[in-house]
Amino acid sequence: QAGTPAYPDDAPASAAAMARARAVTPGGVNSPVRAFGSVGGTPRFMRSARGAWLEDLDGRRYVDLVCSWGPMILGHAHPDVLAAVTQAAARGFSFGTPSENEVALAEEIVARVDPVEQVRLVSSGTEATMSALRLARGFTGRSVVVKFAGCYHGHVDALLASAGSGLATFALPDSPGVPPSSAGETLVLPYNDVPALEAAFAERGDQIAAVITEAAAGNMGIVPPDPGFTQALLRVTRAHGALLISDEVMTGFRASAGGWFGLEGPYAEGAPDLFTFGKVMGGGFPAAAFGGRADVMAHLAPEGPVYQAGTLSGNPVATAAGLATLRGCTPELYDRVGTAARAIADGVAQAFAAAGVPHRIQWAGTMFSVFFRDGQVRDYDDARAQDTAAFGRFFHGMLRRGVHLPPSCFETWFVSGAHDDEAVDHVLAALPGAVEDML
Ligand code: PLP
Repeated sequence: QAGTPAYPDDAPASAAAMARARAVTPGGVNSPVRAFGSVGGTPRFMRSARGAWLEDLDGRRYVDLVCSWGPMILGHAHPDVLAAVTQAAARGFSFGTPSENEVALAEEIVARVDPVEQVRLVSSGTEATMSALRLARGFTGRSVVVKFAGCYHGHVDALLASAGSGLATFALPDSPGVPPSSAGETLVLPYNDVPALEAAFAERGDQIAAVITEAAAGNMGIVPPDPGFTQALLRVTRAHGALLISDEVMTGFRASAGGWFGLEGPYAEGAPDLFTFGKVMGGGFPAAAFGGRADVMAHLAPEGPVYQAGTLSGNPVATAAGLATLRGCTPELYDRVGTAARAIADGVAQAFAAAGVPHRIQWAGTMFSVFFRDGQVRDYDDARAQDTAAFGRFFHGMLRRGVHLPPSCFETWFVSGAHDDEAVDHVLAALPGAVEDML
């Protein structure tokens, strides 16, 4: 019965593994958010995952609403992907030469996102945005880049910057180790703020190489662009000879078959010049990409002078996983993901409303997130005004009932095609008890 707590709060096997991990890895994790920093408690070490379910070292099962932070849109260990990966691995792990799967994966991406004429494959979203930025700077011969507060583009030096409440100021680095010279050419603006964008371009338009934006923000919770915002980005960048980089690492092949562009585009004002992809296109393996206009991509080595490379780029096993995943991304799959996501989001809204808990659910296609506040969330300041302590209690209420949520209220909830009635019902049954634990 999911409604009553199924598991105690301590997780002995995970705690023991965490103690070992801490000795050899900073914070015990290989990516900070996995450490449960904002919710407290012991991160669960998973030993297997199948369909919609994770199983931890203590043998406890959880409905997974993280889906590896997005990639697992078909569900874990999907038989078609498993077969493709197994067959690819049997033929060799890495060739260091061109191989056909790379071409097929590139063709699949180009076919799905109309303005993308060419792509270059890389191994992570961070590499994709870093390389897109270098290409934009190389292409335009300019160095300033504009990003938006609350948008995350990976841990690229120049993009690990947020100006806080400052408007159109050059950014201070968010992290020690990022030299002021790296972040110092990054302008951070508030998301969804067209006047701030216009003001920044009026002042420095001839120095700006590119604007990079999350096509629909998913890293401050889901904050879609206001109607007209993407169009304003296009209009302003075009007027000043800057490029627009649409970061679809999270939304690509997830928000819809064509990502955010597939939902909102095409635009009368033109199209983003470059796109970045990751997550779903790797099917759970390290594969990502950047791509766009062929004349811009032609500036990349070996055709052009902008250098970019990778030992494992286009890896045959990763591209096999990505290809099998994208081929499983049918209209029917998006229907299933969307239906399950709606059912879960409606359940959350009902449980919170019944208990009088302020909340707000926002969407980008089949993606949604839950804000622990009411009222529309349009930018990072709005997103930060949440009851994070309440979220932590809710998170643990769900965890002890066998539901694994993203361990932060600034994250998107991810659902897969494997979230069937059993998985959705399990989540719905857990909600009233978890809300009670939160109050
Ligand atoms: N861009 C966006 C929009 C992302 O959400 C992420 C990761 O969450 C990245 C870039 C970085 O991707 P990766 O973690 O694969 O380096």
